Amino acid sequence: MLRFTNTLSGEVEEFVPLEEGKVRMYVCGPTVWDFAHIGNFRTFTFGDVLQRYLRYKGFDVTYVMNLTDVDDRIINEAAKKKISIDEMTAPFIVAFNEDMAALGNQDPDVQPRATEHIPEMIDIIQKLLDNGKAYESDGSIYFRITEFPAYGKLAKINFEGNIAGGSERVDTDKYDKEDARDFALWKLVEDEDATGWDAPFGRGRPGWHIECSAMSMKYLGETFDIHAGGADLKFPHHENEIAQSEGSTGKLFSKYWLHGEFLKVDNDTMSKSLGNAHTLRDVMKQGFSALAIRYMLISAPYKKQLNFTFEGLKGAETTVARLKQFRRLVAESNGGDGSDPEVAEAVSKAVSAFENALDDDLNTARALAAIHDLVSDINTRLTDGPLMNDDRDAVLKAVDGFNSVLGIFGEEESEEMLDEDIEKLIEERQQARANRDFARSDEIRDQLAVRGIILEDTNDGVRWKRG
Ligand code: AMP
Ligand code: ZN
Repeated sequence: MLRFTNTLSGEVEEFVPLEEGKVRMYVCGPTVWDFAHIGNFRTFTFGDVLQRYLRYKGFDVTYVMNLTDVDDRIINEAAKKKISIDEMTAPFIVAFNEDMAALGNQDPDVQPRATEHIPEMIDIIQKLLDNGKAYESDGSIYFRITEFPAYGKLAKINFEGNIAGGSERVDTDKYDKEDARDFALWKLVEDEDATGWDAPFGRGRPGWHIECSAMSMKYLGETFDIHAGGADLKFPHHENEIAQSEGSTGKLFSKYWLHGEFLKVDNDTMSKSLGNAHTLRDVMKQGFSALAIRYMLISAPYKKQLNFTFEGLKGAETTVARLKQFRRLVAESNGGDGSDPEVAEAVSKAVSAFENALDDDLNTARALAAIHDLVSDINTRLTDGPLMNDDRDAVLKAVDGFNSVLGIFGEEESEEMLDEDIEKLIEERQQARANRDFARSDEIRDQLAVRGIILEDTNDGVRWKRG
């Protein structure tokens, strides 16, 4: 029985989709104003493992992850650089998708962008104005929390008293609000040259929360199965999404809410503002493979915090190398027809343990332990000689199943980048450097890095190796 901790009920609940056999899920995506860090990728990789496991269980999954490309930071940066929002975000969207691919995270079925869903946001805001759950003040539009008594049901925050300023992410606007808890749906933009959109209630730009309400409901319907994100999004982001969505439709918004715990560094949250964040690219440039980083990110269950260390990452590197080698050794086995009941037994025990672990609130740590038990058993068995062919096929089938969910055995060798393609890119990079086009040369280095190719500039020219 598949169970998840549902933040909405605060309990571990059996997962029962709204429609049999089908799962509609939404994961809050990145704000594309900079490179994402590996803390962010812990959350996105959790989303990926979740959707992969639902597919493994036979569900027909629609998986949506948005791109937040309207945000004060983006607008300010773009204005400073005198470029458009699209020009500002384009390189980070490319980088994000490259990083996701390098980490083995599958593409969402839909990757909507906030800038392309302004009319949908305007519609929701208009509905809220019409039914009295929103109001205008100084040209901006706010959600009226007193009209939504369920406010606080997700975060389980007791809203007695004035909580403005109680959390760093509470919207403490300078504008006049009826209640300090009210949050902006639409922010007035007076300056003609500043980024803004026309709406029946005035030119402005959307608040962050309304973006996710609009994009999730557009692709998944007014009520859907799963909404996921990092633990910090519980409040106010997800609480506000619920208020806006349920306030405008009168229906349950998402049945299950899943929140991934943080990647920490020495007990601090990994974040850009604390200066302790590592981008995926930075870590890969230090010689680590994306596969090991993925392994590290899922090595703890999503409900537990995980402390990042380079020591830990080195350990993950050794582990993924061992897993790759194990698959290779098994594939090379050719012990003749037949099967050894002990091997068949070890395989079926490992598959059940793997599924039980993931059924139990997606416990990836226990799922990995089940895989390691099998690897140890079979490695011991291999010291007596190659596996018989039926056993070899059974082990490989189990490994494919594990890999389809966790993606930690890497690609088959043949899917790796060909030597000649690598050489071609290196040549192009040398050319770019000769032309002093360092942006292009760095781009190529990064492009290779995300594919696990590490470059070393030596006196004798460029050397490369697979990470
Ligand atoms: P942002 O781009 O800031 O909107 O964040 C994208 C996602 O990363 C959100 O779901 C955050 O909750 C999540 N996140 C931010 N920092 C961390 C961290 N240190 N560990 C895990 N997830 C994080
Ligand atoms: Zn969101």
